[in-house]
Amino acid sequence: MPIDTYAQDLMQLAAYAWEHPEPGFRETACSASQVAYLKKQGFAVTTDAARTKTGYVASWGSGKPVIAFLGEFDALWGLQQQADATVPMPLSGQAMGQGCGHHLLGVGAIGAGLLYRDYLFQNHLPGTVRIYGCPGEESGSGKAYMAREGLFDDCDAAITWHPSNFNMVVTGSTQSCIQCYFRFTGIPAHAAGAPHLGRSALDAVELMNVGVNYLREHMLPSDRVHYAITDPGGSAPNVVQARAEVRYFVRSATNPACEQLFERVQNIARGAALMTGTEVEIVFDEGLSNTVPNFTLEKVMDRAFRELGVPQYSDRERAYAKAFKDTVPLSDMLSDLPQAARDPERLTAAMEQEPLCDFYVETNHSDLCEMGSTDVGDVSWVTPTVTANLNCFSFGAGAHSWQWVAQGKSSIASKGMLRAGEIMARTARLLQEQPDLLAQARQELNTRLRGDRYRCPIPKGVWPHYFD
Ligand SMILES: [Zn+2]
Repeated sequence: MPIDTYAQDLMQLAAYAWEHPEPGFRETACSASQVAYLKKQGFAVTTDAARTKTGYVASWGSGKPVIAFLGEFDALWGLQQQADATVPMPLSGQAMGQGCGHHLLGVGAIGAGLLYRDYLFQNHLPGTVRIYGCPGEESGSGKAYMAREGLFDDCDAAITWHPSNFNMVVTGSTQSCIQCYFRFTGIPAHAAGAPHLGRSALDAVELMNVGVNYLREHMLPSDRVHYAITDPGGSAPNVVQARAEVRYFVRSATNPACEQLFERVQNIARGAALMTGTEVEIVFDEGLSNTVPNFTLEKVMDRAFRELGVPQYSDRERAYAKAFKDTVPLSDMLSDLPQAARDPERLTAAMEQEPLCDFYVETNHSDLCEMGSTDVGDVSWVTPTVTANLNCFSFGAGAHSWQWVAQGKSSIASKGMLRAGEIMARTARLLQEQPDLLAQARQELNTRLRGDRYRCPIPKGVWPHYFD
Protein backbone atom coordinates (compact mmCIF):
# COMPACT_ATOMS: atom_id res chain seq x y z
CA MET A 1 0.00 0.00 0.00
CA PRO A 2 2.22 2.84 -1.15
CA ILE A 3 1.19 6.26 0.04
CA ASP A 4 3.22 7.92 -2.75
CA THR A 5 0.11 8.17 -4.96
CA TYR A 6 -1.43 10.57 -2.47
CA ALA A 7 1.69 12.17 -0.98
CA GLN A 8 1.54 15.43 -2.96
CA ASP A 9 -2.19 15.92 -2.26
CA LEU A 10 -1.75 15.19 1.42
CA MET A 11 1.21 17.50 1.82
CA GLN A 12 -0.78 20.26 0.12
CA LEU A 13 -3.72 19.75 2.45
CA ALA A 14 -1.43 19.86 5.49
CA ALA A 15 0.35 22.99 4.24
CA TYR A 16 -3.05 24.62 3.71
CA ALA A 17 -4.08 23.81 7.29
CA TRP A 18 -0.75 25.17 8.58
CA GLU A 19 -1.31 28.39 6.62
CA HIS A 20 -4.91 28.72 7.80
CA PRO A 21 -4.74 28.14 11.55
CA GLU A 22 -8.25 28.24 13.00
CA PRO A 23 -9.66 27.86 16.52
CA GLY A 24 -11.75 24.92 17.71
CA PHE A 25 -15.19 24.66 16.06
CA ARG A 26 -14.19 27.40 13.63
CA GLU A 27 -11.91 25.31 11.45
CA THR A 28 -14.03 26.34 8.48
CA ALA A 29 -11.33 26.56 5.81
CA CYS A 30 -9.50 23.38 6.90
CA SER A 31 -12.69 21.39 7.19
CA ALA A 32 -13.94 22.57 3.77
CA SER A 33 -10.63 21.73 2.09
CA GLN A 34 -10.66 18.21 3.51
CA VAL A 35 -14.34 17.59 2.77
CA ALA A 36 -13.85 18.69 -0.85
CA TYR A 37 -10.85 16.39 -1.25
CA LEU A 38 -12.60 13.39 0.28
CA LYS A 39 -15.63 13.88 -1.97
CA LYS A 40 -13.30 13.96 -4.95
CA GLN A 41 -11.85 10.69 -3.70
CA GLY A 42 -15.28 9.05 -3.74
CA PHE A 43 -16.18 9.29 -0.07
CA ALA A 44 -19.71 10.16 1.06
CA VAL A 45 -19.32 13.03 3.51
CA THR A 46 -21.64 14.24 6.25
CA THR A 47 -20.82 17.77 7.39
CA ASP A 48 -21.88 19.58 10.58
CA ALA A 49 -21.40 16.24 12.35
CA ALA A 50 -23.04 16.22 15.79
CA ARG A 51 -23.95 19.89 15.24
CA THR A 52 -20.30 20.91 15.56
CA LYS A 53 -20.34 22.97 12.36
CA THR A 54 -16.84 21.98 11.22
CA GLY A 55 -16.91 18.30 12.18
CA TYR A 56 -17.38 15.81 9.35
CA VAL A 57 -17.66 12.08 8.80
CA ALA A 58 -16.46 10.65 5.47
CA SER A 59 -17.50 7.09 4.61
CA TRP A 60 -16.63 4.61 1.93
CA GLY A 61 -17.73 1.00 1.44
CA SER A 62 -20.26 -1.03 3.36
CA GLY A 63 -20.62 -3.78 5.90
CA LYS A 64 -18.26 -4.97 8.59
CA PRO A 65 -15.76 -4.21 9.88
CA VAL A 66 -16.32 -0.51 10.39
CA ILE A 67 -12.94 1.10 10.98
CA ALA A 68 -12.69 4.71 12.14
CA PHE A 69 -9.69 6.95 11.51
CA LEU A 70 -9.73 10.02 13.72
CA GLY A 71 -8.34 13.37 12.55
CA GLU A 72 -8.17 16.85 14.08
CA PHE A 73 -7.34 20.27 12.66
CA ASP A 74 -7.63 23.04 15.25
CA ALA A 75 -4.81 25.45 16.10
CA LEU A 76 -3.64 27.31 19.20
CA TRP A 77 -3.83 30.99 20.12
CA GLY A 78 -0.59 32.90 20.51
CA LEU A 79 1.56 30.40 18.63
CA GLN A 80 1.88 32.11 15.26
CA GLN A 81 5.41 31.53 14.04
CA GLN A 82 7.50 31.82 10.88
CA ALA A 83 8.12 28.44 9.25
CA ASP A 84 11.67 27.09 9.69
CA ALA A 85 12.79 30.00 11.94
CA THR A 86 14.88 28.74 14.86
CA VAL A 87 14.08 31.71 17.08
CA PRO A 88 10.61 32.90 18.15
CA MET A 89 9.43 34.96 15.16
CA PRO A 90 5.67 35.59 15.20
CA LEU A 91 4.02 35.82 11.79
CA SER A 92 2.40 39.19 11.42
CA GLY A 93 -1.31 39.15 10.71
CA GLN A 94 -1.89 35.84 12.44
CA ALA A 95 -3.05 35.18 15.99
CA MET A 96 -2.70 31.41 16.01
CA GLY A 97 -0.43 28.61 14.95
CA GLN A 98 -0.45 24.83 14.54
CA GLY A 99 1.34 24.29 17.84
CA CYS A 100 0.08 20.75 18.37
CA GLY A 101 0.62 19.53 14.80
CA HIS A 102 -3.09 19.05 14.12
CA HIS A 103 -2.60 20.14 10.50
CA LEU A 104 -0.62 16.89 10.16
CA LEU A 105 -2.94 14.86 12.39
CA GLY A 106 -6.07 15.41 10.32
CA VAL A 107 -4.36 14.82 7.01
CA GLY A 108 -2.50 11.72 8.25
CA ALA A 109 -5.89 10.22 9.12
CA ILE A 110 -7.10 10.99 5.59
CA GLY A 111 -4.02 9.23 4.20
CA ALA A 112 -4.82 6.18 6.33
CA GLY A 113 -8.41 6.14 5.11
CA LEU A 114 -7.39 6.33 1.45
CA LEU A 115 -4.84 3.52 1.77
CA TYR A 116 -7.22 1.25 3.64
CA ARG A 117 -9.96 2.02 1.11
CA ASP A 118 -7.62 1.02 -1.73
CA TYR A 119 -6.76 -2.22 0.04
CA LEU A 120 -10.44 -3.14 0.46
CA PHE A 121 -11.24 -2.12 -3.11
CA GLN A 122 -8.34 -3.94 -4.74
CA ASN A 123 -9.04 -7.14 -2.82
CA HIS A 124 -12.85 -6.99 -3.21
CA LEU A 125 -13.28 -7.09 0.56
CA PRO A 126 -16.26 -5.99 2.60
CA GLY A 127 -15.85 -3.24 5.12
CA THR A 128 -16.56 0.40 5.85
CA VAL A 129 -13.90 3.07 6.00
CA ARG A 130 -14.71 6.12 8.09
CA ILE A 131 -12.64 9.25 8.38
CA TYR A 132 -13.75 11.51 11.21
CA GLY A 133 -12.79 15.18 10.99
CA CYS A 134 -12.98 15.98 14.69
CA PRO A 135 -13.13 19.69 15.59
CA GLY A 136 -12.14 21.52 18.74
CA GLU A 137 -9.69 19.13 20.40
CA GLU A 138 -7.73 21.87 22.14
CA SER A 139 -10.71 23.52 23.71
CA GLY A 140 -14.11 22.08 23.22
CA SER A 141 -14.00 18.27 23.12
CA GLY A 142 -15.41 17.77 19.63
CA LYS A 143 -15.14 13.99 19.88
CA ALA A 144 -17.18 14.00 23.10
CA TYR A 145 -20.12 15.59 21.23
CA MET A 146 -19.66 13.14 18.38
CA ALA A 147 -19.59 10.22 20.84
CA ARG A 148 -22.61 11.57 22.75
CA GLU A 149 -24.57 11.72 19.49
CA GLY A 150 -23.71 8.08 18.74
CA LEU A 151 -21.42 8.65 15.76
CA PHE A 152 -19.01 5.91 16.87
CA ASP A 153 -21.63 3.40 18.04
CA ASP A 154 -21.30 1.05 15.06
CA CYS A 155 -17.49 1.21 14.83
CA ASP A 156 -15.43 -1.92 15.41
CA ALA A 157 -12.23 -0.01 16.13
CA ALA A 158 -10.90 3.54 16.07
CA ILE A 159 -7.35 4.28 15.00
CA THR A 160 -5.62 7.59 15.41
CA TRP A 161 -2.20 9.16 15.81
CA HIS A 162 -0.52 12.26 17.10
CA PRO A 163 2.58 14.09 15.82
CA SER A 164 5.33 13.66 18.37
CA ASN A 165 9.03 13.74 19.16
CA PHE A 166 9.00 9.92 19.24
CA ASN A 167 7.86 6.92 17.20
CA MET A 168 5.78 4.67 19.42
CA VAL A 169 2.46 3.03 20.18
CA VAL A 170 0.70 5.16 22.78
CA THR A 171 -0.27 3.26 25.91
CA GLY A 172 -1.74 4.16 29.29
CA SER A 173 -4.66 6.39 30.10
CA THR A 174 -5.45 10.10 30.31
CA GLN A 175 -7.65 11.99 32.74
CA SER A 176 -11.36 12.58 32.64
CA CYS A 177 -12.11 16.31 32.88
CA ILE A 178 -15.15 18.45 33.70
CA GLN A 179 -15.00 22.20 33.15
CA CYS A 180 -17.52 24.70 34.43
CA TYR A 181 -18.14 28.23 35.62
CA PHE A 182 -19.33 29.13 39.12
CA ARG A 183 -21.24 32.40 38.92
CA PHE A 184 -21.99 34.04 42.27
CA THR A 185 -24.56 36.80 42.71
CA GLY A 186 -24.68 39.01 45.80
CA ILE A 187 -25.91 42.49 46.73
CA PRO A 188 -23.99 45.68 45.96
CA ALA A 189 -23.41 48.25 48.68
CA HIS A 190 -21.06 51.06 49.72
CA ALA A 191 -18.12 49.13 51.13
CA ALA A 192 -17.44 51.75 53.85
CA GLY A 193 -20.84 53.42 54.37
CA ALA A 194 -23.15 50.39 54.37
CA PRO A 195 -21.17 47.16 54.21
CA HIS A 196 -23.80 45.40 56.34
CA LEU A 197 -26.24 45.78 53.45
CA GLY A 198 -23.90 44.14 50.94
CA ARG A 199 -23.34 40.46 50.16
CA SER A 200 -20.05 39.94 48.36
CA ALA A 201 -19.88 37.59 45.39
CA LEU A 202 -16.11 38.06 45.36
CA ASP A 203 -15.96 36.80 48.96
CA ALA A 204 -17.84 33.71 47.78
CA VAL A 205 -15.30 33.10 44.99
CA GLU A 206 -12.42 33.50 47.43
CA LEU A 207 -13.99 31.22 50.04
CA MET A 208 -14.77 28.63 47.40
CA ASN A 209 -11.15 28.64 46.28
CA VAL A 210 -9.96 28.34 49.90
CA GLY A 211 -12.34 25.42 50.38
CA VAL A 212 -11.06 23.67 47.28
CA ASN A 213 -7.47 24.23 48.35
CA TYR A 214 -8.29 22.39 51.62
CA LEU A 215 -9.91 19.63 49.56
CA ARG A 216 -6.56 18.91 47.91
CA GLU A 217 -5.30 17.11 51.04
CA HIS A 218 -8.13 14.62 50.61
CA MET A 219 -8.03 13.86 46.90
CA LEU A 220 -6.39 10.99 45.03
CA PRO A 221 -2.91 11.64 43.63
CA SER A 222 -4.42 11.23 40.14
CA ASP A 223 -6.90 14.09 40.78
CA ARG A 224 -6.23 17.63 39.63
CA VAL A 225 -8.28 20.78 40.19
CA HIS A 226 -7.36 24.17 38.72
CA TYR A 227 -9.19 27.47 38.60
CA ALA A 228 -9.05 30.95 37.08
CA ILE A 229 -11.08 33.94 38.29
CA THR A 230 -12.86 34.98 35.13
CA ASP A 231 -14.79 37.88 36.67
CA PRO A 232 -13.65 39.54 39.91
CA GLY A 233 -16.79 41.67 39.93
CA GLY A 234 -15.24 44.99 39.08
CA SER A 235 -12.22 47.07 39.92
CA ALA A 236 -13.67 49.31 42.65
CA PRO A 237 -12.76 48.14 46.18
CA ASN A 238 -15.30 50.54 47.66
CA VAL A 239 -18.24 48.74 46.06
CA VAL A 240 -19.25 45.37 47.47
CA GLN A 241 -19.01 43.09 44.45
CA ALA A 242 -22.45 41.88 43.49
CA ARG A 243 -21.22 39.40 40.90
CA ALA A 244 -18.10 37.32 40.49
CA GLU A 245 -17.19 34.23 38.51
CA VAL A 246 -14.56 31.53 38.68
CA ARG A 247 -13.84 28.86 36.07
CA TYR A 248 -12.82 25.38 37.22
CA PHE A 249 -11.26 22.32 35.60
CA VAL A 250 -11.79 19.14 37.63
CA ARG A 251 -9.82 16.09 36.52
CA SER A 252 -9.59 12.50 37.71
CA ALA A 253 -8.44 9.13 36.43
CA THR A 254 -11.90 7.91 35.39
CA ASN A 255 -15.29 9.40 34.56
CA PRO A 256 -17.00 8.05 37.71
CA ALA A 257 -14.17 9.37 39.93
CA CYS A 258 -14.32 12.72 38.16
CA GLU A 259 -18.09 12.94 38.69
CA GLN A 260 -17.58 12.34 42.43
CA LEU A 261 -14.82 14.91 42.71
CA PHE A 262 -16.92 17.41 40.76
CA GLU A 263 -19.79 16.88 43.20
CA ARG A 264 -17.45 17.72 46.10
CA VAL A 265 -16.29 20.88 44.33
CA GLN A 266 -19.91 21.87 43.66
CA ASN A 267 -20.72 21.36 47.35
CA ILE A 268 -17.88 23.68 48.29
CA ALA A 269 -19.33 26.30 45.95
CA ARG A 270 -22.77 25.87 47.54
CA GLY A 271 -21.13 26.17 50.97
CA ALA A 272 -19.38 29.39 49.93
CA ALA A 273 -22.71 30.80 48.75
CA LEU A 274 -24.33 29.86 52.06
CA MET A 275 -21.50 31.44 54.05
CA THR A 276 -21.70 34.71 52.18
CA GLY A 277 -25.44 35.01 51.66
CA THR A 278 -24.98 34.92 47.90
CA GLU A 279 -26.37 32.66 45.21
CA VAL A 280 -24.40 30.41 42.93
CA GLU A 281 -25.20 29.30 39.41
CA ILE A 282 -23.16 26.40 38.05
CA VAL A 283 -22.75 26.72 34.29
CA PHE A 284 -21.45 23.61 32.55
CA ASP A 285 -18.74 24.41 30.03
CA GLU A 286 -17.37 21.18 28.63
CA GLY A 287 -16.17 17.74 29.58
CA LEU A 288 -14.30 14.76 28.27
CA SER A 289 -13.59 11.19 29.28
CA ASN A 290 -10.53 9.26 30.43
CA THR A 291 -8.84 7.10 27.81
CA VAL A 292 -9.45 3.37 28.09
CA PRO A 293 -6.29 1.66 26.82
CA ASN A 294 -6.60 -1.40 24.62
CA PHE A 295 -3.61 -3.72 24.72
CA THR A 296 -5.05 -5.94 21.98
CA LEU A 297 -4.99 -3.07 19.52
CA GLU A 298 -1.64 -1.84 20.84
CA LYS A 299 -0.13 -5.23 19.89
CA VAL A 300 -1.57 -4.99 16.38
CA MET A 301 -0.24 -1.47 15.91
CA ASP A 302 3.15 -2.57 17.27
CA ARG A 303 3.25 -5.16 14.47
CA ALA A 304 2.38 -2.51 11.90
CA PHE A 305 5.24 -0.33 13.19
CA ARG A 306 7.69 -3.23 12.94
CA GLU A 307 6.56 -4.20 9.44
CA LEU A 308 6.76 -0.68 8.04
CA GLY A 309 9.58 0.86 10.06
CA VAL A 310 9.88 4.55 10.91
CA PRO A 311 11.08 7.51 8.83
CA GLN A 312 14.79 7.95 8.13
CA TYR A 313 16.44 11.31 7.52
CA SER A 314 19.03 12.89 5.26
CA ASP A 315 22.04 14.83 6.55
CA ARG A 316 20.26 18.03 5.61
CA GLU A 317 17.23 17.07 7.69
CA ARG A 318 19.43 16.09 10.63
CA ALA A 319 21.17 19.49 10.51
CA TYR A 320 17.77 21.23 10.34
CA ALA A 321 16.59 19.29 13.42
CA LYS A 322 19.82 19.98 15.31
CA ALA A 323 19.25 23.74 15.03
CA PHE A 324 15.85 23.32 16.74
CA LYS A 325 17.11 20.81 19.29
CA ASP A 326 19.72 23.38 20.38
CA THR A 327 16.95 25.80 21.41
CA VAL A 328 16.02 23.60 24.41
CA PRO A 329 18.29 22.72 27.37
CA LEU A 330 19.10 19.00 27.47
CA SER A 331 17.94 18.73 31.10
CA ASP A 332 14.46 19.96 30.07
CA MET A 333 14.06 17.42 27.30
CA LEU A 334 15.32 14.52 29.44
CA SER A 335 12.74 15.36 32.11
CA ASP A 336 9.97 14.55 29.66
CA LEU A 337 10.67 10.96 28.56
CA PRO A 338 7.73 8.71 27.61
CA GLN A 339 6.91 6.83 30.82
CA ALA A 340 6.21 3.52 29.13
CA ALA A 341 9.49 3.33 27.14
CA ARG A 342 10.97 -0.14 27.50
CA ASP A 343 14.55 1.06 27.19
CA PRO A 344 14.81 4.55 28.71
CA GLU A 345 18.64 4.38 28.63
CA ARG A 346 18.63 4.07 24.85
CA LEU A 347 16.24 6.95 24.60
CA THR A 348 18.32 9.11 26.93
CA ALA A 349 21.49 8.35 24.96
CA ALA A 350 19.75 9.19 21.69
CA MET A 351 18.45 12.46 23.06
CA GLU A 352 21.92 13.37 24.24
CA GLN A 353 23.61 12.55 20.95
CA GLU A 354 21.08 12.67 18.11
CA PRO A 355 19.06 15.57 16.71
CA LEU A 356 15.83 13.60 16.33
CA CYS A 357 14.17 10.22 16.82
CA ASP A 358 14.85 7.88 13.89
CA PHE A 359 14.02 4.61 15.63
CA TYR A 360 10.99 2.81 17.00
CA VAL A 361 10.56 3.34 20.74
CA GLU A 362 9.28 0.08 22.18
CA THR A 363 6.82 0.51 25.03
CA ASN A 364 5.48 -1.69 27.81
CA HIS A 365 1.69 -1.90 27.92
CA SER A 366 0.55 0.44 30.65
CA ASP A 367 -2.61 1.28 32.57
CA LEU A 368 -0.99 4.33 34.14
CA CYS A 369 -2.98 7.54 33.96
CA GLU A 370 -0.95 10.40 32.54
CA MET A 371 -1.81 13.88 33.79
CA GLY A 372 -3.75 15.69 31.09
CA SER A 373 -6.78 14.95 28.96
CA THR A 374 -7.81 14.28 25.37
CA ASP A 375 -11.21 13.76 23.81
CA VAL A 376 -9.89 10.57 22.18
CA GLY A 377 -10.93 9.24 25.60
CA ASP A 378 -14.61 9.56 24.72
CA VAL A 379 -14.17 7.43 21.60
CA SER A 380 -12.21 4.84 23.60
CA TRP A 381 -15.21 4.24 25.90
CA VAL A 382 -17.42 3.45 22.90
CA THR A 383 -15.14 1.44 20.63
CA PRO A 384 -11.66 -0.09 21.06
CA THR A 385 -9.20 2.69 20.26
CA VAL A 386 -5.47 2.90 19.61
CA THR A 387 -3.07 5.80 18.97
CA ALA A 388 0.32 5.95 17.25
CA ASN A 389 2.93 8.62 17.81
CA LEU A 390 5.10 9.47 14.82
CA ASN A 391 8.10 11.70 15.04
CA CYS A 392 7.57 14.93 13.11
CA PHE A 393 10.08 17.23 14.85
CA SER A 394 13.49 17.48 16.43
CA PHE A 395 14.16 16.28 19.94
CA GLY A 396 13.53 19.07 22.41
CA ALA A 397 10.48 21.26 22.58
CA GLY A 398 7.24 19.36 22.94
CA ALA A 399 3.62 20.06 22.04
CA HIS A 400 2.26 23.61 22.13
CA SER A 401 5.61 25.23 21.39
CA TRP A 402 6.72 27.70 18.75
CA GLN A 403 9.30 25.11 17.71
CA TRP A 404 6.54 22.69 16.67
CA VAL A 405 4.86 25.42 14.62
CA ALA A 406 8.17 26.36 12.96
CA GLN A 407 8.88 22.74 11.98
CA GLY A 408 5.32 22.03 10.89
CA LYS A 409 5.99 22.44 7.16
CA SER A 410 9.32 20.61 7.08
CA SER A 411 10.04 17.41 5.18
CA ILE A 412 10.52 15.76 8.62
CA ALA A 413 6.92 16.62 9.50
CA SER A 414 5.67 15.34 6.13
CA LYS A 415 7.54 12.05 6.50
CA GLY A 416 5.98 11.53 9.94
CA MET A 417 2.51 12.30 8.64
CA LEU A 418 2.77 9.99 5.64
CA ARG A 419 4.20 7.11 7.66
CA ALA A 420 1.46 7.64 10.26
CA GLY A 421 -1.09 7.14 7.48
CA GLU A 422 0.63 3.93 6.40
CA ILE A 423 0.90 2.55 9.93
CA MET A 424 -2.74 3.30 10.71
CA ALA A 425 -3.87 1.72 7.42
CA ARG A 426 -1.67 -1.34 8.08
CA THR A 427 -3.18 -1.65 11.56
CA ALA A 428 -6.65 -1.64 9.98
CA ARG A 429 -5.57 -4.20 7.40
CA LEU A 430 -4.21 -6.54 10.08
CA LEU A 431 -7.54 -6.28 11.87
CA GLN A 432 -9.45 -6.95 8.67
CA GLU A 433 -7.38 -10.05 8.02
CA GLN A 434 -7.95 -11.39 11.54
CA PRO A 435 -11.45 -10.44 12.67
CA ASP A 436 -10.97 -12.41 15.90
CA LEU A 437 -8.61 -9.60 16.96
CA LEU A 438 -11.50 -7.15 16.71
CA ALA A 439 -13.61 -9.45 18.86
CA GLN A 440 -10.75 -9.68 21.37
CA ALA A 441 -10.35 -5.91 21.42
CA ARG A 442 -14.07 -5.48 22.06
CA GLN A 443 -13.93 -8.10 24.81
CA GLU A 444 -11.02 -6.25 26.40
CA LEU A 445 -12.97 -2.99 26.35
CA ASN A 446 -15.98 -4.68 27.97
CA THR A 447 -13.76 -6.19 30.66
CA ARG A 448 -12.13 -2.85 31.40
CA LEU A 449 -15.48 -1.08 31.70
CA ARG A 450 -16.71 -3.75 34.15
CA GLY A 451 -20.30 -3.43 33.10
CA ASP A 452 -20.21 0.35 33.02
CA ARG A 453 -21.11 2.07 29.76
CA TYR A 454 -20.32 5.41 28.20
CA ARG A 455 -22.09 8.39 29.67
CA CYS A 456 -20.90 11.57 28.02
CA PRO A 457 -19.63 14.07 30.60
CA ILE A 458 -21.33 16.81 28.57
CA PRO A 459 -25.02 16.90 29.49
CA LYS A 460 -27.62 16.65 26.75
CA GLY A 461 -28.65 20.06 25.51
CA VAL A 462 -25.17 21.56 25.90
CA TRP A 463 -23.69 22.28 22.46
CA PRO A 464 -20.26 23.53 21.38
CA HIS A 465 -19.70 27.17 22.03
CA TYR A 466 -17.49 29.05 19.67
CA PHE A 467 -14.32 30.64 20.88
CA ASP A 468 -12.99 33.98 19.70
ZN1 LIG B 1 -2.81 17.73 20.04
